[in-house]
Amino acid sequence: MVKGVVVDAVNAVLANLCREFRELNSGHLATYIPPLARADPADFGIALASASGHRYQAGEADRLFTIQSVSKPFVLALALSELGAAEVFRRVGSEPSGEPFNAISLDPETGRPANPMINAGAIATTALVPAKGVEQRFSRILETLSGFAGRALDVDEEVYRAEAATGDRNIALAHLMRAAGSLTGDPSGALDVYFRQCAIRVHAVDLAVMAATLANGGVNPVTGARVVPEPVTVQVLAVMATCGMYDGSGDWLLRVGLPAKSGVSGGLVAVSPGRSGMGCYSPLLDTAGNPVRAVAALTVMSQELGLHLMHNPPPATPTLIEPGPGEGPGGAAWSRAGGDTAPGDPPAWVAAQGELDFTAAERLAYALAERLPEAGHGRAVIDLVHVTAVDAAAETLIRAVLERVTARGHVVGLVGEAAVPFSTQGVLLASRSAAAAWSRPPS
Ligand code: GLU
Repeated sequence: MVKGVVVDAVNAVLANLCREFRELNSGHLATYIPPLARADPADFGIALASASGHRYQAGEADRLFTIQSVSKPFVLALALSELGAAEVFRRVGSEPSGEPFNAISLDPETGRPANPMINAGAIATTALVPAKGVEQRFSRILETLSGFAGRALDVDEEVYRAEAATGDRNIALAHLMRAAGSLTGDPSGALDVYFRQCAIRVHAVDLAVMAATLANGGVNPVTGARVVPEPVTVQVLAVMATCGMYDGSGDWLLRVGLPAKSGVSGGLVAVSPGRSGMGCYSPLLDTAGNPVRAVAALTVMSQELGLHLMHNPPPATPTLIEPGPGEGPGGAAWSRAGGDTAPGDPPAWVAAQGELDFTAAERLAYALAERLPEAGHGRAVIDLVHVTAVDAAAETLIRAVLERVTARGHVVGLVGEAAVPFSTQGVLLASRSAAAAWSRPPS
């Protein structure tokens, strides 16, 4: 198993993005919650978690910061799981407000806030979470966000106290909503839970795993635990797509094309449904309140990896296939996961079909890495006979993985038209039977 080579190759893709956009120094730190003004404006971390549970990172992706508004979609997910969409959207709307996050966007007739991603809607959503009291409500929220992240999260008490002491606008919003009838119960209890929820500490890798859990239909792909039901993730992603990026939501959907949510401390989650979750940290914000470097990097990442939602999706065929009878290495099992090779062992053999994009290439790379021995030199065959196309992102990743695999002394044979671009990283073989003969250890 040489799993490290895949992690290393994808980390290199993220490190390039980090390097490219670290120099962007426009924007400003949020200062209205005093401790946020102490963030290091140079920080930039980026992380990706695939729906198959692998994590990648670059830059300051381990730096802890408070989640702020990035908590909103995950608390919405909890409210939807408990109460259902009909009840939640009866109390909070689902229309983009086109106004800043702290706007007083309440329906003039009903007092209902425009959507759960702006402060008014988020405070109302938090208050909907069923619980016996304030403490239990917050514990349920912390537990749910921890489930999304796959580790026990905690609260930055200083940021919580600072916001509780200075959050006049949110306090006013909560009282206005009570007066309008859209917030039932005690506004100070709702605000206390909301301020604590915003002060939960995370890093970019946590955010990537949280996003990947939404991408993976509500099952955390790292822990394997179901956090919310699958239909809830569809509802949350729809709201994120239209309302997640403050008054920059339309422009973001146009350019990046992914459901996302940003927060004033510089956090950002973006979700590529069925594929992966991205998490970023970059505390300098643009005029809409979105993290400047994260927006720039994800715009390029979405283009390079072909993630925009409005692209025609490739046909949903499995990427990895097992060779049929008479194909592949022949004889014993067609592949061996991990361990050391022994004389007479079949070679590592992985075969794919259809169109290879970044996600498919990552799967193929892992299958290869799992079948190569950590110690010693292995022979492997990548069978691309049934591959119809390899896009630019897949080509870059496969090349990066092959470079790392061959640098460790393994030799890779390649079969199929689609393998031709990789001829300098391996041995091109004319057919499957030629590959089988090439890969068989001498007896
Ligand atoms: N706690 C912040 C507030 O309510 C969150 C705002 C944000 O991240 O957009 O003002």
